[in-house]
Amino acid sequence: MKIALVGIGKIALDQHVPAIAAAPEWELAATCSRQGSVADVPAFSDFAQLLAERPDIPVISLCLPPVPRFEYAAMALQAGRHVMLEKPPGATLAEVHTLEQMARARGVTLYTTWHSRMAEAVAPAKAWLADKAVRAAQITWREDVRKWHPGQDWVFEPGGMGVFDPGINALSILTEILPMPVHLTAAELEFPENRQTPIAARLVFSGGVTADFDWRQEGPQTWDICLDTDAGQLALRLGGNVLELDGQPVAGENSIMGEYPALYARMAALVRAGQSEVDLAPMVHVADALTLGRRSITAAFHF
Ligand code: NAP
Repeated sequence: MKIALVGIGKIALDQHVPAIAAAPEWELAATCSRQGSVADVPAFSDFAQLLAERPDIPVISLCLPPVPRFEYAAMALQAGRHVMLEKPPGATLAEVHTLEQMARARGVTLYTTWHSRMAEAVAPAKAWLADKAVRAAQITWREDVRKWHPGQDWVFEPGGMGVFDPGINALSILTEILPMPVHLTAAELEFPENRQTPIAARLVFSGGVTADFDWRQEGPQTWDICLDTDAGQLALRLGGNVLELDGQPVAGENSIMGEYPALYARMAALVRAGQSEVDLAPMVHVADALTLGRRSITAAFHF
């Protein structure tokens, strides 16, 4: 299937382009970006022009930051194209509901991707937890924003979500593997004095679940989810890629390179089946934290 990539920046070049190139079922037929491009692929800078001139491309994958994404997604759906959304799927919950209705009305596929759910150990963790009672869970997601979002001021602008941009990956895993629903009961959010979004957040959920998100961690990075159950301890390390049971590694691989190929395989299957997959559960928790959270102001942040 021919596909066009829109928003050729960090994640498009790091993950989407190699994943598409490695998949025999996909052909990167065009890009659309104001400045970015991919060698040997026809490049557009005007999305309306791409849609008008390339009716042969049925699938559009949007790698833009969340705030500008809605407009592009709406244009693509109105033009009868299947659409794949990077995470988080939008800047607001309501706009994604609108996109879902548009996709249904046009009979095309909308896929809200959550790449961390495709990490190697997430499916085995979900299977192991299915018949267990979870007594407590701790998420620790501490990384260096300068390393992963170099110079990307949009993450600190309204709608950029701040530390929830990586934190929502942890919440996408949590909402996938837990055998019971949880809801946020309290949150503390730290906002740099010169920024609009939090740089750190501590969340408390029902069911003994807590989360510690911090974007100021230099040196070793931490992406762990640890659960206490009636049958022992389960830990997901390296962003869901390694599974430990009672401290012993039992599944997974120390690599994140399987996540995007799995997303594109899922998109191909959805398009062929004429289905959509729209799950906003991780984003609901972020919206709740921004609604319920107690705010404090911390030191200014500069890239
Ligand atoms: P990015 O490099 O800052 O942005 C991607 C591209 O989008 C930019 O290069 C820019 O290309 C285009 N763009 C930016 N603002 C725009 C605007 N207002 N209107 C139109 N186009 C605009 O960001 P990224 O790191 O790739 O992240 C993009 C999405 O992927 C985010 O939702 C993020 O959460 C997700 N993601 C990122 C990572 C990561 O490690 N960075 C990992 C997983 C997922 P042009 O200037 O050429 O138009």
